[in-house]
Amino acid sequence: MFIHDTENALRAATALVNSLPEIDGEGVDRLANLDDMTEFLQEYPYTGAIRRDDVELDQLRSARSQLRQLWTGDRVAAVPIVNAMLRDGRALPQLVIHDGYDWHIHATDDAAPLATRITVEVAMAFVDVIRSDEFDRVRVCSADDCEAVYIDYSKNGSKRYCDTGNCGNRMNVNAYRRRKAEESA
Ligand SMILES: [Zn+2]
Ligand SMILES: [Zn+2]
Repeated sequence: MFIHDTENALRAATALVNSLPEIDGEGVDRLANLDDMTEFLQEYPYTGAIRRDDVELDQLRSARSQLRQLWTGDRVAAVPIVNAMLRDGRALPQLVIHDGYDWHIHATDDAAPLATRITVEVAMAFVDVIRSDEFDRVRVCSADDCEAVYIDYSKNGSKRYCDTGNCGNRMNVNAYRRRKAEESA
């Protein structure tokens, strides 16, 4: 549905937002230290300068709240957020080809801070989402005890729960128990 690098950027953004402590209901920050960052970078590799130090970690941790805002409103509300991300990151889209990837866009310098590069890349991905009028796929988990975000990549757009936990199953079990309780009441 989305071009490959757009989907990659959206997946990375989803992971970053879902690492926030206010997401999982237990208050666990899943991007708390350098090991967490290394794990994130293994899962979502980035080219360009990576320092793997506390400054970089702090910047990446701080970037998460702004990324989360993209999930808190509708398509129109996302526009000024995306534009601010592009402006603040001094985005200058350029077509590039490297490391066996096909032509794609880099909108920041390779030497820009990692958090800036990721934020701009996510903003560029949301440009695609907004322009292709697919913003209704930008969703928050429907489970009543889960704030995790996701992008619905399903063909018919029917995905209701996040991928972080077991929300679909849990809600089904809850509904089943409620029905049972009502039957026996
Ligand atoms: Zn690249
Ligand atoms: Zn969930």
